[in-house]
Amino acid sequence: MRHRESRLSRSISTTRSTMLGSMMDVPMNVIQIIERASRHHGSTEIVSARSHGEEAHRYTYAEAYQRVCQLGKALRALGLEPGDRVGTLAWNSHAHLEVYYATAGLGLVCHTLNPRFSAVDLEWIINHAEDQVLIVDIDFLPLVKDLLPRLETIRQVIVIDSQLAPAADRIPDALDYEALLATESSSSPDWATVDEHQPCGLCYTSGTTGMPKGVTYTHRSTTLHAYASSLPDSFALSAQDAVMPIVPMFHVNAWGLPYSLPLVGAKIVLPGRALDGESLFQLMEAEQVTMAAGVPTVWLGILEHLNQKSRTFSSLKRTVIGGSAAPESMIRTIESTHKVSVVHAWGMTEISPTGAVNTPTRALRQTDEELSLSLKKKQGRAIPGIDIRIEKADGTTLPWDGSSPGHLLVRGPWVVQQYTGGVVGARSDGWFDTGDIATVDTQGFIHIVDRSKDVIKSGGEWISSIALESTACEHPGVFEAAVIGLPHPKWMERPLLICVPRPNSSLSPRELRDFLAERLPKWWLPDAIELVDSLPHGATGKLLKTELRQQFSHYSLAPADNERTAGGVL
Ligand code: AMP
Repeated sequence: MRHRESRLSRSISTTRSTMLGSMMDVPMNVIQIIERASRHHGSTEIVSARSHGEEAHRYTYAEAYQRVCQLGKALRALGLEPGDRVGTLAWNSHAHLEVYYATAGLGLVCHTLNPRFSAVDLEWIINHAEDQVLIVDIDFLPLVKDLLPRLETIRQVIVIDSQLAPAADRIPDALDYEALLATESSSSPDWATVDEHQPCGLCYTSGTTGMPKGVTYTHRSTTLHAYASSLPDSFALSAQDAVMPIVPMFHVNAWGLPYSLPLVGAKIVLPGRALDGESLFQLMEAEQVTMAAGVPTVWLGILEHLNQKSRTFSSLKRTVIGGSAAPESMIRTIESTHKVSVVHAWGMTEISPTGAVNTPTRALRQTDEELSLSLKKKQGRAIPGIDIRIEKADGTTLPWDGSSPGHLLVRGPWVVQQYTGGVVGARSDGWFDTGDIATVDTQGFIHIVDRSKDVIKSGGEWISSIALESTACEHPGVFEAAVIGLPHPKWMERPLLICVPRPNSSLSPRELRDFLAERLPKWWLPDAIELVDSLPHGATGKLLKTELRQQFSHYSLAPADNERTAGGVL
């Protein structure tokens, strides 16, 4: 017995001593991504559109890294220390990319600020984050000038392209970005030694349902997200691509592309401030872009331009669309008319942001065109590293049957644990409630039915505002559509459809109603349809339903219509 015990304890202690494994413990650090890109893809280009009548800025990864080194030394000379936050108010540009990396290399936190947030929110966010330095594009100087007296922790403003700023917009004591870099050599600084769990990025949610909340990304979460989102069944990024992130670098790090593109060595094409359909199309053609990434609103503009000018793409092969649901009509036009493959993706600020990407499995590739189109409406399968679950309001897990909608929960190494200031993020059981309602089918394809606060609860059943909007957009006379729920005495809530007609269309509510009646269950039909000139969009291009609800708060659904159309199950 004694003999057996000693053998057992020997084997346990041997196991313990080898528990850590025998692999190198190299911490993940974001600066390594650009450093490696400069060595392995040194001649690959980064092109940055300039918006003040100048030619695009063009340089290579090797040159980009040299400037990252210069910026790193300059920021250190300003007295910034690891952990300090550097705010940015900037478009997608090479300078913004340099800030992403120089801050990471020094152990600073790059805090991308969304210039489309209200001034009140921005003031609150900058003070809350305790940003020390602000790096700004000249377009945002009037905004910063106005905010500056109320920003408690900012000790230096640095201006990109300051010489182009109108005299009235200039900020006394602001430093010029180029002049700052010029003071430093391009040799590699001693980058900070950072633990991979330390933060490198910070982004605030838009706060449509309360105060904005800050999410800090770590070197580890950012690097892992970059790997996972580059995979073939994610964004399928490679050194053969020329990629245009249209999604702003101030909105969840442009879906992580500023990290994943240098990781794989793809050519980067940054559109700057000109986000209209014509400018984007021209830049894509000039730089032979093979992949673009942007929200559906941006695609509305591009498709309108192509339609008006009877143009199409010569190099674009695929486009990732996410941020809000891509309507089926949009997917169909991009795929059928322009022969560009749509990759629908889902994510959120709290997930760095990519959670799911819609790429077909081998079996699904064989399906016919119509089926594949209806599959593309779904937001796809959780990317490796992300675990998902759907549950009822009472916490019961729902099956993956493609027809049981429930609260979508996620967990994984790039999902928020807690917001800045210790605000609770994930639940105590380790899952994060996304606030989205979704179904998951037998193959794991997620279909986002709605935001839980936007879904219309009619007579105890749910009507998906996303599905209604997408069907309305199928009508050739509809440019954009939004659906909100309005209170109803009998059914609790009923849908109101608000549409922007296409220019020169003679769309009438009755015609649209008949069109929807052919495609939707009777009880889903909106109780009223309003035609408007434009719809409000939030800071990230999403429909601002809070504003629509306010705008239509006194709207009354005609009782006769209610009786005629409503058929929810009580
Ligand atoms: P944000 O944190 O501002 O990026 O917003 C995240 C929210 O946008 C998600 O929780 C979803 O409600 C919505 N969203 C993102 N991508 C999609 C998509 N492909 N389809 C539908 N909703 C989406």
